[in-house]
Amino acid sequence: AAKASGKRTWRRFQPQQRIRVVERHALQVRLDRAVSREEFGLRYQPVVDIAAGRVVGFEALARWPELGPDPVPPGQFIPLAEETGHISALGAWVLRTSTADIARLQHRTPQLDPPYLSVNVSTRQWRDTNFLDEVCTALDATGLAAGTLQLELTESVLMQRTDQIDAQLHALKERGVRIAVDDFGTGFSSLRYLRDFPIDVLKIDKSFIDGIPHDPQQVALVEGIVHLADTLGLQVIAEGIENQPQRELLADIGCRYGQGFLFARPMTLEQGEAVLWERNNGGRKNG
Ligand code: C2E
Ligand code: MG
Ligand code: MG
Ligand code: MG
Repeated sequence: AAKASGKRTWRRFQPQQRIRVVERHALQVRLDRAVSREEFGLRYQPVVDIAAGRVVGFEALARWPELGPDPVPPGQFIPLAEETGHISALGAWVLRTSTADIARLQHRTPQLDPPYLSVNVSTRQWRDTNFLDEVCTALDATGLAAGTLQLELTESVLMQRTDQIDAQLHALKERGVRIAVDDFGTGFSSLRYLRDFPIDVLKIDKSFIDGIPHDPQQVALVEGIVHLADTLGLQVIAEGIENQPQRELLADIGCRYGQGFLFARPMTLEQGEAVLWERNNGGRKNG
């Protein structure tokens, strides 16, 4: 009976959907293997001081596969990893690897202000009871100062809060880790959580930045977010800055930090180090 009903369900699919299901399955099989073999890579996108152009930190962004001809965008494999539960193993790998990388980068650039590391954490990871341990273990193992680690969560985590998530957030704060809200403005924005949660940073979603400086409504929204953040004592980072007019307007309205292709694309750790010397020390490797 199960087989028959399975068949009936299948017949209702459009051919196009059938291909999607098959592709998805193939991708899932590939991902299963990749997780056990740790076939992932990381790129680091600089976060800059918009007016000065100095690099203040790096956001770690997962890549898969690290090598090879057929890269899958994170927008595809991260949701799949979330659905299949692989995100716990993948997220733990990202945390271990990126903290080790940035600790190494800080050691190699002792004359410069240590850049911070920002790591994306998915909703499922926040629910994971081991997450707090993983963060503490990564900090202890690499010697990265907690004050130079930032964890990015999405608004959905704040909406689905549980006692356990609250406890983890507060414990992380106590340890000195900073918490950022990623893609701010795209979720179910309730301003109450900005008051109730120990948040340090708002990252304004790229979709708002796309509309400036030409769309007056988008400009007003971005200005509003910046002022709100100022009032609440939060830092702001504008995401996805692609051109000079956007940069100038953001500087004018007092948005201090940003990320985007105008400044730098996600890059390898080695390229990140070169950018750090170039922009923060006038190209000099010493003093
Ligand atoms: P996100 O955290 O909002 O990261 C910003 C995304 O915007 C990155 O895409 C980055 O490459 C892209 N970006 C930055 N500046 C610009 C710009 O000026 N123009 C354009 N068009 N794009 C820009 P990416 O690397 O493809 O990552 C997509 C999303 O996948 C991330 O969005 C994040 O939600 C997720 N992701 C990536 N790595 C991880 C990870 O290690 N863990 C988790 N949980 N999610 C991750
Ligand atoms: Mg992010
Ligand atoms: Mg974002
Ligand atoms: Mg995003």
